[in-house]
Amino acid sequence: MPRLSLFLLTFLLVSQTEAQQPDAVIRSIFNEALTDTTAYHHLRYITKKTRGRIPGSREALLAVEYTRQALIDAGADTVWLQEVTVPHWERGEEKAMIISDESGMRELTIAALGLSVGTAQEGLTAGVVEVHSFDELARLGKEKIEGKIVFFNRPVDNTLINTFAGYGGAVNQRTQGPSEASRYGAAAVIVRSVTHALNDFPHTGVTRYAAGIKPIPAAAVSTMDAGILSEALKRDPDLKLHLLLTCKNYPDTISYNVIGEIYGSSRPGEYITVGGHLDAWDNSEGAHDDAGGCVQSIEVIRLFKKLGVRPRRSVRAVMFMNEEMTGTGGREYAARAMERGEVHYAAIESDRGVMAPRGFTFDASGERLMKLKSLAEWFEPYNIRDFDQGGGGSDIAPLKQLGTLQIGYIPEIQRYFWYHHSANDTFEQVNIRELQGGSASMAALIYLLDIYGY
Ligand SMILES: [Zn+2]
Repeated sequence: MPRLSLFLLTFLLVSQTEAQQPDAVIRSIFNEALTDTTAYHHLRYITKKTRGRIPGSREALLAVEYTRQALIDAGADTVWLQEVTVPHWERGEEKAMIISDESGMRELTIAALGLSVGTAQEGLTAGVVEVHSFDELARLGKEKIEGKIVFFNRPVDNTLINTFAGYGGAVNQRTQGPSEASRYGAAAVIVRSVTHALNDFPHTGVTRYAAGIKPIPAAAVSTMDAGILSEALKRDPDLKLHLLLTCKNYPDTISYNVIGEIYGSSRPGEYITVGGHLDAWDNSEGAHDDAGGCVQSIEVIRLFKKLGVRPRRSVRAVMFMNEEMTGTGGREYAARAMERGEVHYAAIESDRGVMAPRGFTFDASGERLMKLKSLAEWFEPYNIRDFDQGGGGSDIAPLKQLGTLQIGYIPEIQRYFWYHHSANDTFEQVNIRELQGGSASMAALIYLLDIYGY
């Protein structure tokens, strides 16, 4: 081909791409996402074949290998594993039984809290003190608490429309309750599951023993059985609870963040990260929390590659390891980025479930926030309208040190805590269309951020 025509052809091709209006590109992103089932199949594999993938487990490593391959298949320019130190905790057996002269014996549905110590091999049997706050615990003091099992039974505040605020108002019973009770000599702790649901699925989650405090065994009880225990205590305040937990902490071990990258065309040293966490609670398939966020992030890579949308900045999909227990995956990612002097322009986290997409929250203010909120107009045709101020998420939070814009992907949130951290968080609870809409939203937002650079 003569040199001139080659030049002309290249010129025409470039003009054609540049002439593509953002709304056409966004439409093509949604069309592709809403008609492709790759992400849904990934979700099924991760939830069904790597169930139990707590940090430090063999299942977590299977999920690492699976998503590494999924990122290669999605067309990422490079894929690698980043070593992360993680805790190794195993659940073992768990049993709780009410023993009452009034109402006889009754078994309760419980789940040990993550990182909890176990009871003695034969279990422990003790009286139960029900409390609703740390103040109430302090008022009762050592005299009433020593040797007893403390039962934290403050429900989630159902009047709060923001279910995350409701969760946040109750979760300290789980994270700090065992430490607080231990200060007064409690033998163990039972926590009402931190959920809006009224059912028989206990919701686990991590507990954190404060430094210098004797760790005591701790488990969550289903909301239904929390009601039964509370009623039984009203009838017979002297009832006993037999508790057996054989959970155990082992030495820390090694796992991995999984990272797939598309090289930026003109600013390859600047990064936009999109991610979810690959680990999930061992009593759960972890579909909404957070295999969904992971497969959506892989899908972002696939969408860019499939549609030939080449971002100026490099785009990374990250499957963070160990969000649920000690957050080492997010910290490792930021530490390595800092070490290499990378510029991280923005990061989006998808860790609020896989319901219908609603919008994004931005950790920004003033004029910058206004500009970011103005991007909502591109999402009008897709019923995605909630562009508000707010945080990103715990895995991307360590990137704040690098001045990274923090963005949270926000789906509909009324049902999320029904599933969260429980055996009820299954693949079947995810709607394929809502999953696809989330991937498309994040890909579209990254595309717009990359163009406008707000
Ligand atoms: Zn999560």
